Amino acid sequence: MAAAFDGERASSMVGELRGSFNSGRTRSYDWRVKQLKAIEKMIVEKEKDITDALFSDLSKPQFESFLHEISLAKSACQFSVKNLKKWMKPEKVPAALATYPSSANIVPEPFGVVLVISAWNYPFLLSLEPVIGAIAAGNSVVLKPSEIAPATSSLFTRILPDYVDTSCIRVVEGAVAETTALLEQKWDKIFYTGNAKVGRIVMAAAAKHLTPVVLELGGKSPVVVDSDIDLKVATKRIVVGKWGCNNGQACIAPDYIITTKSFAPKLVESLKFTLEKFYGKDPLESEDLSRIVNSNHFGRLAKLLDDDKVSGKIIYGGKQNEKQLKIAPTLLLDVPENSLIMKEEVFGPLLPIITVDKIDDSFAVINSRSKPLAAYLFTKNKKLERRFVETVSCGGMLINDTTLHLANPYLPFGGIGESGTGSYHGKFSFDAFSHRKAVLSRGFGGEVGARYPPYTSRKQKM
Ligand code: NAD
Repeated sequence: MAAAFDGERASSMVGELRGSFNSGRTRSYDWRVKQLKAIEKMIVEKEKDITDALFSDLSKPQFESFLHEISLAKSACQFSVKNLKKWMKPEKVPAALATYPSSANIVPEPFGVVLVISAWNYPFLLSLEPVIGAIAAGNSVVLKPSEIAPATSSLFTRILPDYVDTSCIRVVEGAVAETTALLEQKWDKIFYTGNAKVGRIVMAAAAKHLTPVVLELGGKSPVVVDSDIDLKVATKRIVVGKWGCNNGQACIAPDYIITTKSFAPKLVESLKFTLEKFYGKDPLESEDLSRIVNSNHFGRLAKLLDDDKVSGKIIYGGKQNEKQLKIAPTLLLDVPENSLIMKEEVFGPLLPIITVDKIDDSFAVINSRSKPLAAYLFTKNKKLERRFVETVSCGGMLINDTTLHLANPYLPFGGIGESGTGSYHGKFSFDAFSHRKAVLSRGFGGEVGARYPPYTSRKQKM
């Protein structure tokens, strides 16, 4: 039996990785590109193993696995390789008069040895994409995938070492004990994806060593639906963003809808129609919906529906199969603000709808809660759109669609407040794992005598 991964093993592993980092190996452009290309090759060659693992962990539909995990991870590799030379270049900035003559540059520098702790819901992409950023920025990196997605987690330990330089890139599998042993070590950056409760544990552990963190957390991402919309298109985009994203188990899946009292009946009819069109009359039988990840999360979701405060509020769905860990797409209308489902992040196939008198009232509803990771608005009204952008505070927003902002590598992806700190994707991933070192360079000319003591009264008058 292999020895438990405890503090001693964690410490010796970090020591080895620090040695590799200090040798300078990870800093070269060639090393970085070689690793990134190797990861891309792994994604291509192991596509079937990856989809099988995701199916085993979540019954994730094969097409969804490809679209949302495999192809996005591959694009992240390609995008980094394509742009890396440019990203690694020092950025020349203007010289200040006070330092004349001089040249000034911002030089990106790898942090060193970094830790990536990942979550279960997109266990392949959420593990690899930060690792890609860490490598692109020239770090040694340890990946700790989520134990809640065991097939994907063990796949990483089986396949990644065959492709990458294991003197600098490692995978550690495990749950709380192993993660705790990792968190006791001194890292140069920690990148954590998951819930805010553990986010606090990660941040506290990091504080001991003054280690900077990126926390990719969650929250209740609202969808505001105005009446001035193309209802058919809007509904399809809401449904696919909710149930077509891991059956609602996605950090930026719509968590709840806000619409006006007068428009709610139309919207509800359209949602019901679309849901039936996409997932059939018995969605528990649909192969296009992921299952709930495990019985703990199933129980958590069942509790949200059992809450007395939402009794009589289910207007569609609600069917469950505990043995198969399946819950049908479920709509709830006019749930009270103090119900459990409006207090917690849903992270599953339940979609509460709350109503307001005027659509503008929805902004105050959102801003009265913790800042969400994403916020969505459906409207043709440009003034309303502008007010939404100006008024609503959240990690990122998307107008007239859901979730797609994540797929633009030119946009930073991350939260604010309770939904996280820091961001990544595209160049932002490189930046997340780079220190921006200020470098000012001068020659020996340009002496100004007034700078040096003694500070005579003549000098002070100058
Ligand atoms: P999870 O249970 O997989 O936990 C995340 C990681 O934390 C795992 O690697 C786990 O081993 C580790 N962990 C758990 N308990 C720990 C402890 N006590 N000490 C140290 N480490 C510990 O995932 P989760 O938290 O259930 O993920 C769901 C949450 O993550 C939701 O809130 C969701 O919105 C959020 N999320 C955010 C993003 C994003 O990109 N912002 C992406 C996915 C999920």
